[in-house]
Amino acid sequence: MICVSIGRGRHRHMIAEHKFLAEKDVHLVELRLDYIQGTVQVKRLLKDRPCPAIVTCRRAIDGGRWEDSEEARLVLLRMAIVEGADYIDLEDDIATKIPRYGKTKRIISFHDLHRTPPDLTALHKKLTSMDADIVKIATMANHPMDNLRMLELVRGSKIPTVGICMGDIGMPTRILSGKVGSPFTYATFHHDRVLAPGQLGWQQMRDVYRYDTISAATEIYGVVADPVAHSLSPVVHNAALAAAHKDAVYLPFRVPAEQLDEFIASADRWPLTGLSITIPHKEAVLRHVRVQDDMVKAIGAANTLAFTPAGIAAFNTDATAAVESLEAAIVDKDNETHPEGFGVKKALVLGAGGAARAVAFGLKRQGVDVTVASRTMGRTKLMAMEVGCKAVEWNARYRLPYDCLVNATPVGMHPNVDETPFDKEHLRPYMVIFDTVYNPENTLLIKDARTTGCRIVTGVEMFVRQAAIQFKIWQKCEASQSLMRDALKQATASAKQPV
Ligand code: NAP
Repeated sequence: MICVSIGRGRHRHMIAEHKFLAEKDVHLVELRLDYIQGTVQVKRLLKDRPCPAIVTCRRAIDGGRWEDSEEARLVLLRMAIVEGADYIDLEDDIATKIPRYGKTKRIISFHDLHRTPPDLTALHKKLTSMDADIVKIATMANHPMDNLRMLELVRGSKIPTVGICMGDIGMPTRILSGKVGSPFTYATFHHDRVLAPGQLGWQQMRDVYRYDTISAATEIYGVVADPVAHSLSPVVHNAALAAAHKDAVYLPFRVPAEQLDEFIASADRWPLTGLSITIPHKEAVLRHVRVQDDMVKAIGAANTLAFTPAGIAAFNTDATAAVESLEAAIVDKDNETHPEGFGVKKALVLGAGGAARAVAFGLKRQGVDVTVASRTMGRTKLMAMEVGCKAVEWNARYRLPYDCLVNATPVGMHPNVDETPFDKEHLRPYMVIFDTVYNPENTLLIKDARTTGCRIVTGVEMFVRQAAIQFKIWQKCEASQSLMRDALKQATASAKQPV
């Protein structure tokens, strides 16, 4: 069950959101009295409530907004019990001061906004001894292993326990709460209005992560990155998993570089089935793998892991996705295949990072004459040597004619949408312009190319195709690319800050 926390300054807004949520089939809300401005009217909030409510009044030291006295807070909590609140949230230090009364169930809670304490078991034991119906522990995750310790605590507990790690790193615990037996998880009314770090909106929790379908048997996939909050992979993969009726969920795992080894080594404990790997881990992750596909061997970087009984297998789906995207655009535009070959002869790749390397490899394998240009000549030369292509100075990118230009730099990416890595005056109608940036899809470079009359390939195409290849590696069946494309476009269009 998803419990939606409502934090509004005015009673009527809180009541309206409660009503709205109940109409949307939400079965539990948390009324955060500490958000109400002025005198709190508990009776008004609870009278005629459309679905059960937890009443919470959080102090600032626990992450709340209550500014009045502690005495006044305790009075308010007692009033809520007298008014028949379904649940009352009592922090561990006040639990013994407020006795059980009537039918109100007691949630005994503990918060640590800075860390996840080392001995969660002892803490849990202490909280259960305080006449708890439910124990709630919310702590800051500073390490992916904090999540595992929390999930394992909840899984092993006899009393219903909600164990949540806060922050970006802790997000998986919010989504996997039900998998380990929590009675509910917390989400917010809107993903832009979070009440605690790392919280998700209830619609993301319900529609993207399908929280209510996650059980002990659900397979876990995810993207490993740092940072990860901007990643659109969860939106795209979860849409494909849902459409294919897979009992699987795809999570954002924020894993700092120095914690990667421990995270990968802990795969069996989650357990993890497959991972997308992105910045900064694409090369570092290779020290853990047993098998590498040809692309990984050639590029020296992986973007996909599959956890199998025989060990970890690594794949790189970026190069194939880039080539397939180009091929599709060329065939689409000409409405015919190219019997003489790939359809591109000379390509200029801008950038010398992971994406540039994958695209350049893919093009080289198609027999394309590839040149790379980036701002850092040392990096450009190194990549050119490894890929077997030419290198030119960044400022020399306009000097020679190319029939294909690939942007593999972040230039033009949200929020810098008015920037382009290649001036419009140098575009020619015979060129194929491929921008790997996918947020937004219509970058300034793509817009310029379109008005020049060039054939275009957007980063959305490549992103969807690399994800679809990953899906096939893990699920052994095709993903719906059109559905993935729609999910991606909707996410970039509706919210510039995705899940
Ligand atoms: P990366 O490893 O950090 O490499 C970025 C490259 O861009 C570097 O060569 C860097 O050069 C260059 N660069 C950065 N800022 C620049 C600027 N203002 N002007 C000119 N060059 C600049 O990143 P990556 O993984 O290769 O990703 C690059 C972009 O590709 C991402 O931003 C993303 O939009 C796109 N991408 C798309 C997909 C897809 O599926 N569509 C997949 C992966 C990546 P310096 O060394 O000079 O800084």
